[in-house]
Amino acid sequence: MNGTLRLVGAPKAGKTPAQIERLREALDAADAVVIGAGAGLSTAAGLTYTGECLTRWFSDFVDRYGFADMYSGGFYPFASFGEHRAYWSRYIYCNRYMRAPGSVYADLLDLVRDRDYFVLTTNVDHQFQLAGFDKRRLFYTQGDYGLLQCSEPCHAGTCDNRAQVFVQGEDGLYALPAGMRPRMEVPSELVPHCPVCGRPMSMNLRSDGTFVEDEGWHRAAERWADFQRRHERARTLYLELGVGYNTPVIIKFPFWRAVASNRRATYACVNMGEAVAPIDIERRSILIDADIARVLSALA
Ligand SMILES: [Zn+2]
Repeated sequence: MNGTLRLVGAPKAGKTPAQIERLREALDAADAVVIGAGAGLSTAAGLTYTGECLTRWFSDFVDRYGFADMYSGGFYPFASFGEHRAYWSRYIYCNRYMRAPGSVYADLLDLVRDRDYFVLTTNVDHQFQLAGFDKRRLFYTQGDYGLLQCSEPCHAGTCDNRAQVFVQGEDGLYALPAGMRPRMEVPSELVPHCPVCGRPMSMNLRSDGTFVEDEGWHRAAERWADFQRRHERARTLYLELGVGYNTPVIIKFPFWRAVASNRRATYACVNMGEAVAPIDIERRSILIDADIARVLSALA
């Protein structure tokens, strides 16, 4: 994969049914399936930053600050730390503890449940676990909305944030607006602090240089490395779903390299508007420029 990379795109929309059929055949023929999942998969599953979720869970914040979507609110310089935490508690509730509304993850699990599979994902929304995927077959490389770490960080441990997201106060749960009077601020005594150094805890997300790779992360990385070793020469299907160009070095480029170096491997990419492959592996690529939800339900 050096020099200039020549890419080929997906066939025209009219060829999509034939491409889906090719993907079905590749799935049937594969000894192993590697799923590479990016943000587009959860979007296809109905996890969006606007719409019902925003009006249902964030109407007070929208009234006060005029946020147009949940995502931009996450970066707002709130006046107090407690307000920031209240916002993020609800955000995490909606994007980590609630299951995505669509059947996308369930359809995907049906396709691989009885197979030798592995999931590599940049998503931090826990939807694979919530859908019932075997967690020993998952590597969530960028962290998880459900984990807290030291903000410094002074040590490489993480802990579950359920207790913080679902804090029970006299007005109910901060994440769950109780009745019509949701709390917009988490009191300072309820902000979690590092058990080692006492600094505030932060989310375990790879957004800057402070990301902690905890024991679970390392175990998952080892299992992924082991899976790759075992399937280097196997008939492996690399199925890439909704991976964009934000962090192509984690899924997209390694998939292209793996398929280029194993003549029995197949690359499949389902992506609205961005289904491409290097010309070197064109004949072993199945490129589908279509809605992931539609493609998976057609396969299921
Ligand atoms: Zn600490």
